[in-house]
Amino acid sequence: MSPFPQSTVLGYPRIGPRRELKRALESYWEGRSTRAELERAGAELRELTWRRLAGLGLAGLPSNTFSLYDHVLDTAVLLGAVPERYREAADPYFAMARGTEGLAPLRMTKWFDTNYHYIVPEIGPDTVFKLDAAKPLAEVREARALGFETRPVVVGPVTFLLLAGALDRLDDVLGPYEELLAALAAEGVEWVQLDEPALVADRTPEELAAVRSAYDRLGSLTTRPSIFVASYFGDLGEALPALAATPVEAIGLDLVRGAVPGAVPGLAGKTVVAGVVSGRDVWRTSRDRALATLSALSAAGAGRVVVSTSCSLLHVPYDVDAEPDLDPALWARLAFAEQKVAEVVDLAGASAAGFDAPPPAEPSVALREPVVLEERAPYPVRAAAQAAHLRLPALPITTIGSFPQTGALRAARAAVAAGTLALPDYERQVEAEIEHAVRVQERLGLDVLVHGEPERNDMVQYFAEHLDGFAVTRNGWVQSYGSRCTRPPILHGDVGRPSPITVRWAGYAQSLTDKPVKGMLTGPVTIVAWSFVRADLPLRDVVLQVADAVREEVRDLEAAGVSIIQVDEPALRELLPLRRAAQTDYLEWAVAAYRRATSGASERTQIHTHLCYSDADQILAAIDGLDADVTTIESARSGARILGAVRSFGRGLGPGVYDIHSPRVPSAGEVEQLLRRTLAALPVERVWVNPDCGLKTRTYEQVEAALTNVVSAARRVRETL
Ligand code: GLN
Ligand code: ZN
Repeated sequence: MSPFPQSTVLGYPRIGPRRELKRALESYWEGRSTRAELERAGAELRELTWRRLAGLGLAGLPSNTFSLYDHVLDTAVLLGAVPERYREAADPYFAMARGTEGLAPLRMTKWFDTNYHYIVPEIGPDTVFKLDAAKPLAEVREARALGFETRPVVVGPVTFLLLAGALDRLDDVLGPYEELLAALAAEGVEWVQLDEPALVADRTPEELAAVRSAYDRLGSLTTRPSIFVASYFGDLGEALPALAATPVEAIGLDLVRGAVPGAVPGLAGKTVVAGVVSGRDVWRTSRDRALATLSALSAAGAGRVVVSTSCSLLHVPYDVDAEPDLDPALWARLAFAEQKVAEVVDLAGASAAGFDAPPPAEPSVALREPVVLEERAPYPVRAAAQAAHLRLPALPITTIGSFPQTGALRAARAAVAAGTLALPDYERQVEAEIEHAVRVQERLGLDVLVHGEPERNDMVQYFAEHLDGFAVTRNGWVQSYGSRCTRPPILHGDVGRPSPITVRWAGYAQSLTDKPVKGMLTGPVTIVAWSFVRADLPLRDVVLQVADAVREEVRDLEAAGVSIIQVDEPALRELLPLRRAAQTDYLEWAVAAYRRATSGASERTQIHTHLCYSDADQILAAIDGLDADVTTIESARSGARILGAVRSFGRGLGPGVYDIHSPRVPSAGEVEQLLRRTLAALPVERVWVNPDCGLKTRTYEQVEAALTNVVSAARRVRETL
């Protein structure tokens, strides 16, 4: 058995430094290229990555971290967990990921506390597991042909089943895992990485016993690669002794979020893969602190210690060198994936000639003057004032904010950035787009209109560009799901709002129509969740600074005559700490921040909020605590589950009736059925009719067809009231 390499990363971005995979996927989906061409694009990206990692001096190269869509979906395919109904599809893999004309896709949700979305495996009592190791084996061979030995990375059995809510199938799934290990051994693979991030959350004694029995069983195989169990996003806690008691050869610890463990029986015999370089932020690693952690780990009795990232680098952009526009002082503090690999290599070598001492962080500044908060009037008072003012029909129909973003608009934005289009010309285009969206909504018969957000490249970046304290990147893309990427802004200083941001666009839309136009803001938690934030202030204080900026915008919208304002918090659940002990505190300040942002609105101004893909079940009390007059929430995919849960809110509710994450257009019959299901659970006077989320990723053709069906379904239901 060869020892674990001295330096490694747990995973690497795969979308491509210039989003090559995004383009290849979209071309394939649109029928402009073949599956073989898509595969070739993937192979080129894998080659680029291996060559880059090796070129930076990294000793242990991972494989199978590439994915055409999602690594959890890949694992489901690996284990044969492809639901029957997708098997006949032209491309079952993408049918599961995105749906087809006749098939809804599998459910998608967020990967732990990140903004990455994975496809939830569908595993029932009848699911037959059967190994299909083609992908990891092919990647091992492909790398070998390029001269690289690699360590395949696969989601481990316990995490895989916990994500699917099917841990009771552990015995059945271990068979294919055993066969996988045998197949990798036969291929000459020395190390395999099994990812078990689920072990950093609270686990029951039964679940910990499952960890032990799974890794006892896999470890007892006679012919297998050495097993490296990787944990990340927090501290292993009780799961560490459980793992250390099994025959696995290496254990990965997140030492950025988690602490150096005390004495753990069995750990002395293991290689500890020390995650000292953060995979979750964009700051350079403090070399001194990392070296101190590494030596503390050795002192604590770990066996061999090797250096790694705290998690996959999937969650950070590729390369700081692709950011020429950043302020040099900020730039010098940053490390993206490439720089983090170099840090890992440097720390592993522990060479004296390493980095210069990192420049000092910006001085920490406490919150500015606290705003004196008036609470809003009680809901019944607000509801009466709003009903009198807005005069909406029963089952009001609205959307979540964005309308399709056209290529022309994106090109115009790029032209402004390149200096080839004058700002006033661009702004006229935005206004034309707003007018188009308003006319479409009027024609379709919606009751509460939106301006469509054409001026926004992204719901967080747009605000970041207009607030003090943020920087935005040119190429800092991070995969969100499938081909979708975002460029998280970098929040590096004190936040302030120098002038109104959205008032002009909402006001313009309202000037075009007699129907109410809903103003559209991103909430403080979401702005922070989807940014890389400064590390010198507690997260809570950073969020409250952002809340004050949003509050100023709410006031200005209201003053400009906008009587419905939506403050989106789709990321509320995302920042929820993985350990229960820390959750209450988080939810308390997160809710307080939202109320701080919205409570300046008068009683007749209707405040909406929106949440999506957030497994809302876990944070219902907090959503209720936001005290929004109307809550629109994703539900078309997750079914009736959410309805029972939100029944008790006693305020307006819009469970989504159109799954916008799929290109599929739902029929009026389907929408009507969802609506009737909603009405069976909720009193009619509280129900709103809306899609699951914003429409920006769809085409106008899809949106108009779908909304036509939504409106006719709502009208049909209204007639029977
Ligand atoms: N208002 C935003 C939009 O419609 C909300 C997006 C979201 O929830 N992710 O695009
Ligand atoms: Zn949404």
